[in-house]
Amino acid sequence: MDVNIESLQAKNLPVAKAESVIKISFTDEGKNTEQAWKQKERFVKFLDKYFESFIDSKTCPNCDSELGGFFGMFQYGMAWGEGHCGKCGYPCRADHKVEDEEFKFSFSMVLPYHPSVLKKEG
Ligand SMILES: [Zn+2]
Repeated sequence: MDVNIESLQAKNLPVAKAESVIKISFTDEGKNTEQAWKQKERFVKFLDKYFESFIDSKTCPNCDSELGGFFGMFQYGMAWGEGHCGKCGYPCRADHKVEDEEFKFSFSMVLPYHPSVLKKEG
């Protein structure tokens, strides 16, 4: 099965958003201080920027196969954290490390790349 990047790009799939992909909570959130909320806001922005390269989907945008979990089609590739849908080859990432001056965050979850960041092969 081929990946038709151009037709996937034409679909304008929504990018992943931090708060829909992962549950964000701060231990000091209960204090409800302005500082805590500002930090959370910065953290969500920081993650949203990263998630712009991905689709919030547990299935392959190209062939609809389930990606994550024990029976998922995701297969690791050669590069750390990177892989693809085992059925059609659509590129995905399973291990994520996000970092800037303020935050450092890593997690594991299979996320398909957003078609807008993919280049047509050949
Ligand atoms: Zn696929």
